[in-house]
Amino acid sequence: MIQVESLYKSYGTFPAVKNVSFEVPSGVIVGLLGPNGAGKTTIMKALTGYHKPTAGTILIDGKNVEEDPIAIKSMTGYLPEGVPLYSEMTVYEYLEFIAEARGVIEHKKETIENTMRKCGLIGFGDVLIDHLSKGYKQRVGLAQAILHNPAILILDEPTTGLDPNQILEIRDLIRDLGKDKTVILSTHILQEVEALCSKIIIINEGEIVADGSPEEIADAMKGEENIICKIKTSSIDKFKVDFANYLKYSPKKLVENLFQSELVVPAQSGDAAAESIFKWIVEHDSILLEMRRDTLSLEDIFVKLTREGGNHA
Ligand code: ATP
Repeated sequence: MIQVESLYKSYGTFPAVKNVSFEVPSGVIVGLLGPNGAGKTTIMKALTGYHKPTAGTILIDGKNVEEDPIAIKSMTGYLPEGVPLYSEMTVYEYLEFIAEARGVIEHKKETIENTMRKCGLIGFGDVLIDHLSKGYKQRVGLAQAILHNPAILILDEPTTGLDPNQILEIRDLIRDLGKDKTVILSTHILQEVEALCSKIIIINEGEIVADGSPEEIADAMKGEENIICKIKTSSIDKFKVDFANYLKYSPKKLVENLFQSELVVPAQSGDAAAESIFKWIVEHDSILLEMRRDTLSLEDIFVKLTREGGNHA
């Protein structure tokens, strides 16, 4: 549905997006993740045709965004960051204005009412946008994005600034919309990506550092997994020194949770590593009460890729 090939975007001499390529199949919800200033909004603006790329091509359903902007706008719905709305209009007036601008002439009233129903805006038609709470403004923003029934939704930080109840409501709405649309959303909230997205693209400093399903990204980073060993032994200090010698680590590298006699063995992966650690512990007069892999959470992955750098997935 969406193909981005070698996208570059510079503001003056500053390269905000560098050589970004990715594909989004139809009917999935994709999360664009990245720290502040990573380039998420810039990518979204390029996808919607609001920003002309410095280089590279973007195809949406086979059509080039730069060559066919009207067709692209009829296929896409865009909720920009900060939800710019005309605050002096009522909700209905605004949606009517959007409907006319988007060429929704036939069944206009019915389309507006259906959209208001979908977005939980029934009963708010006569309310001035200026008088709405943040959450309801967000709903109006979503309503304008879906009014012309686009196949693709591009949502820039759709839940920023909302209270926890509003976040859950907007997420339910996005999940519902994702049943028959392709959705790209940007967010800083990792739980949001976990709750909604089947594909994640992590951006750092204008470049993609990970692209795949949450499982694929976690798998690609498995080499960094820790093994946690809970041990019963007569002297944990002596054990730690011998164990570190065996692993060829400095004992300091083994993080110890004294209360639970747990040792975290960093960056070990595969069954062979676990098997040899198990054998060594048993042969050294100690009891292994528990051994488990410390699987990386999305948060761990995000921090590793965006703080420590590196191109892992
Ligand atoms: P955030 O999560 O904070 O919204 P983002 O990932 O969406 O950030 P962008 O808004 O795409 O990041 O910005 C990427 C970089 O480009 C930032 O360094 C930003 O300061 C810069 N930038 C964005 N828009 C402009 C502009 N119009 N002119 C100059 N620089 C810009």
